[in-house]
Amino acid sequence: MDAIAAAQALSEIGYLLRQNPKEVYRARAFSAAAWTLALERPNLDALFNDNKLTSIEGVGEGIAKVLAGLIETGQSTYLERLRAETGQPARDDESTIDLSAYQGDLHSHTDWSDGRATMLEMARGAKALGYKYLGVTDHSPRIKVVNGLDAERLLAQSREREQVEKEVEGLALLQGIEVDILEDGALDLPDAVLELLDVVIASPHVKLRQEPSAMTERMLRAVSNPNVDVIGHPTGRRPGSREGATYDFEKVFREAARHGVALEIDCDPARMDLSPEHARLALELGCTFAIDADAHAPAEFAYVPMGAWMARRAGIPMDRILNFKPLEALTMIAK
Ligand SMILES: [Zn+2]
Ligand SMILES: [Zn+2]
Repeated sequence: MDAIAAAQALSEIGYLLRQNPKEVYRARAFSAAAWTLALERPNLDALFNDNKLTSIEGVGEGIAKVLAGLIETGQSTYLERLRAETGQPARDDESTIDLSAYQGDLHSHTDWSDGRATMLEMARGAKALGYKYLGVTDHSPRIKVVNGLDAERLLAQSREREQVEKEVEGLALLQGIEVDILEDGALDLPDAVLELLDVVIASPHVKLRQEPSAMTERMLRAVSNPNVDVIGHPTGRRPGSREGATYDFEKVFREAARHGVALEIDCDPARMDLSPEHARLALELGCTFAIDADAHAPAEFAYVPMGAWMARRAGIPMDRILNFKPLEALTMIAK
């Protein structure tokens, strides 16, 4: 069995377990094991034959049993049971996502804000995974606790970007920002700054409990800003701990489609936002998508299979997903 396929199954188990607050630890264990599989791609069949599945980091007896089932039958009775219990059976219109066709990732953080690695380390991680490009999108100034970047620091960061690009050959670093969507829908940096960047991800981080009508206006304003390329984790939800913002999803997604603004599927297992259900609605309304690891360290690029699983479940074809487009085809960069 392919390690990535197994990682997607474990991811789905982690995701479904997260629906139940009592299972949050078990959920984390499954998600963590999924990351290890995605990152290290062990030879599962060989390990299974040698009875050594538990030698994989984060794989205890319980997870090894699930893996053994997957390897032997291609399926997991545990996953089937969870799907039934949570009312989320497999759908027959799921799409096919080929992760080996993955060109890059638009959303990542470095130690310029709350990332735990340098830009060079992040770039090397992306390069090791075969990416052709990586968006460096640290936080904007409002997020003070994470040392968000103002125009001056963005300029300083762009010099480091040039250096790192020279050092890590074959990987394009996109100078970007994850700009906060303020309460009234304005963005946390002036348009004159945003205009200069390769990629602008606008995300809601605070005041997510606004009245739905105010939240709708806020999101509509963000979506119609011509500098915005992607709406990051569009609801701000944290499965198992925080419900996301509620707004007129249909109206906002429709506007996103009209403006050519992509919606993010944030792969961070603590977010998984958009949910497969919301992503399916967005798909029907004509939206494009960005599957982003939102990595704060190179190891977190391994979140991607989770996002891919969500896209699959939402039935999103690969041609609607920016990550599968070569750099030259990304219109946001070309503009
Ligand atoms: Zn964010
Ligand atoms: Zn982020």
